[in-house]
Amino acid sequence: MSSQAVSFLELRTPAAARAEAAKTWPVEKVLELFNLPFNELMYRAQQVHRQHFDPQEVELATLLSIKTGGCPEDCGYCPQAARYDTGVQAQKLLELEQVLAAARAAKEHGATRFCMGAAWRGPKDRDLDHVEAMVRGVKELGLEACATLGMLEDGQAERLAAAGLDYYNHNLDTAPEFYNNIITTRDYENRLDTLNKVRGAGIKVCCGGIVGMGESRRQRAGLIAQVANLDPYPESVPINHLVQVAGTPLHGLDPLDPLEFVRTIAVARITMPKARVRLSAGRRELGEAVQAMCFAAGANSIFYGDKLLTTGNPDAEADMALLEKLGMRIKHTQVSANMAE
Ligand code: SF4
Repeated sequence: MSSQAVSFLELRTPAAARAEAAKTWPVEKVLELFNLPFNELMYRAQQVHRQHFDPQEVELATLLSIKTGGCPEDCGYCPQAARYDTGVQAQKLLELEQVLAAARAAKEHGATRFCMGAAWRGPKDRDLDHVEAMVRGVKELGLEACATLGMLEDGQAERLAAAGLDYYNHNLDTAPEFYNNIITTRDYENRLDTLNKVRGAGIKVCCGGIVGMGESRRQRAGLIAQVANLDPYPESVPINHLVQVAGTPLHGLDPLDPLEFVRTIAVARITMPKARVRLSAGRRELGEAVQAMCFAAGANSIFYGDKLLTTGNPDAEADMALLEKLGMRIKHTQVSANMAE
């Protein structure tokens, strides 16, 4: 029996149905938002956005891969999985100075948050020694520090918190009933467990997912419902548009209608009013007009550069030109400040 069928049967039991209805955002309610006429959905999302944020303001977060490729997991979208032939070469963990040079460049380009990503199933304790030094160095530069290192074991979140980590990113990726179509080497519960550990250690949560992986609208609603029902919901919600990479199992899918992506942003904004909703992977493929619609739908954070930034980085310049064209501003924060929202 497929996991989808199991999930459906479970929901038909009275107890499961009651539990679902008791959630802040039952899937049906989220789906109703998705099904609104486009302009109505945009209007509602803008109302919510303006209650909590300056709609002209966008946060810049820079992502650096501190350990690229060679990952043992099988996430069907990911070119860093060792088992897919994507041309990505496995590299060792970057040296501290390389990471701090990238963080300085990110700060010079206006980033307020620096996110370090490692292609691991989870960090080994000896890896964490290095990551802790990176976190301390990033914080000393006056940036917020974020890390995405995979699943965490007991005690690891506390170590990262002690080093000063502000955010930990761990995405749920998709709806529970679609999850096994995308990843088989870890399950949904593992992800929720890591998110609990992060919260328990007092680190802010960055958690979202990817759309355009062949899921249905209901399953997109299922993803948003899962994230919105985390208690509390994440401070940061990255919404990725699948970037299809040759060699990965998801390469060659019919692309998602861009308006459906905009709807997903709007629904995330409505269901998680105070979260930073971040446009993440796939942003450039969407083009300027769709990105502008995403900002209008309530997105207010972007990943800015996905590799070591250097002066004159053309992607960064294109981002700045777009923000200027839209009359938007970059959010500036003090590292020690809580989320302004
Ligand atoms: S765990 Fe992360 S790096 Fe590894 S395959 Fe999945 S998405 Fe890629």
